[in-house]
Amino acid sequence: DAFITRVAQAKALNAFIVETPDHALAAAREADRARAAGETLKPLAGVPIGMKDLFCTRGVQTTAASHMLEGFVPQYESTVSQKLWDAGAGMLGKLNLDQFAMGSSNETSYFGNVVSPWRAKDGGNAALAPGGSSGGSSAAIAARLCPAATGTDTGGSIRQPAAFTGIAGIKPTYGRCSRWGVVAFASSLDQAGPMARDVTDCAIMLEAMAGYDAKDATSLQLDVPTWSHSLSPSLAGKKIGILKEYRVDGMPEEIEALWQRGIDWVKDAGAEVVEVSLPHTRYALPAYYIIAPAEASSNLARYDGVRYGLRDLPQGANLQAMYAATRAAGFGDEVKRRIMIGTYVLSAGFYDAYFTQASKVRALIARDFEAAWEACDLLLTPTAPSAAFALGEKSADPLAMYLNDVFTVPSSLAGLPAMSVPGGLDKQGLPLGLQVIGRPLDEQAVLNAGLAIE
Ligand code: GLN
Repeated sequence: DAFITRVAQAKALNAFIVETPDHALAAAREADRARAAGETLKPLAGVPIGMKDLFCTRGVQTTAASHMLEGFVPQYESTVSQKLWDAGAGMLGKLNLDQFAMGSSNETSYFGNVVSPWRAKDGGNAALAPGGSSGGSSAAIAARLCPAATGTDTGGSIRQPAAFTGIAGIKPTYGRCSRWGVVAFASSLDQAGPMARDVTDCAIMLEAMAGYDAKDATSLQLDVPTWSHSLSPSLAGKKIGILKEYRVDGMPEEIEALWQRGIDWVKDAGAEVVEVSLPHTRYALPAYYIIAPAEASSNLARYDGVRYGLRDLPQGANLQAMYAATRAAGFGDEVKRRIMIGTYVLSAGFYDAYFTQASKVRALIARDFEAAWEACDLLLTPTAPSAAFALGEKSADPLAMYLNDVFTVPSSLAGLPAMSVPGGLDKQGLPLGLQVIGRPLDEQAVLNAGLAIE
């Protein structure tokens, strides 16, 4: 009841696209019944969570924050959300996001931007971005509208919003969580993960979300470890790598200071800190902004006015005109930009120069990480190159927006587990995040380091 009331009162944040209090109440009642009957409670019995509106939920509108899918009510449940319901959780509602998860500030949503509950000390009460694309999730958790939420991360969409709002979030190894029923953006990068107030809650959520699913061909056939049972803040015997290439030019002093704080904290927890190099990391951002739009242009071809959601059928129009009218009206500017970039880099004349080249760079980046694991067990970096920026500050400049992903994109290209944990406040009193990146499948080490830092 407390969460449902808070959600209803916090409309100004615009965190939810749809509220589903009955879903949350049903889970709470079932937990009460089980407790009264003396049954063993499920791991998330009665816990009310928020669901990023990129996960298909049976009978509940699923929009990906796009006009294209407004009114789309799936007849099936995504694997990840089904697993959460099976673990006893209930849904408070569907959370706002950047349209089709494309963005870093939540400003590309058709349903309007989310507002961060945070304010800078000298900011004159200027509204701040909650990060993106999982900005509804981050704002809702930071404002205590829900204790945890789902996110998805293609190039940083769990970690950067977590950093901007002072919460924790983990993108597991690619393949840990099923992509079935999650609206696709860039299929070779998309990965679901939890966002919550702290590392322990993330571990509990991830246990419920992860696991093999025959319906996703890239799902890993592995048992789900009981991460939450093996959490330990000791980093004795662990080597933590600091990437010299991440000391990017013009990095704000406060981000440098944050990083140094993180280094001190992991040393205090018993880790040895070593410098490592990822020589190709400077090409990660351009490679990502070729590969992700390329895959998006292909994935979004399905929105043709016939199979899903919106149909714009002008009087007397033929099929081509219906496609054109539907896609012109249904997609937002950023989505159209990515479809055009993606179509261009996949076109016959430019495929080798852009897509093939970016794919090669991606392989080199993955190899860089493999070499780094010879020297260390984990990597520690800032999550983002700045604290939360003001709404509107970067929305007219796509390149400035893309640059915000500079620290999160390399591990996405390599499919590695990576987490953002709160790393203290800057001079303006705004939260900053530290990122821990781990070896493939070593979520445990990532979570443990997160626990040591938070
Ligand atoms: N900000 C990045 C982008 O716009 C990442 C988005 C995401 O991870 N979904 O592509």
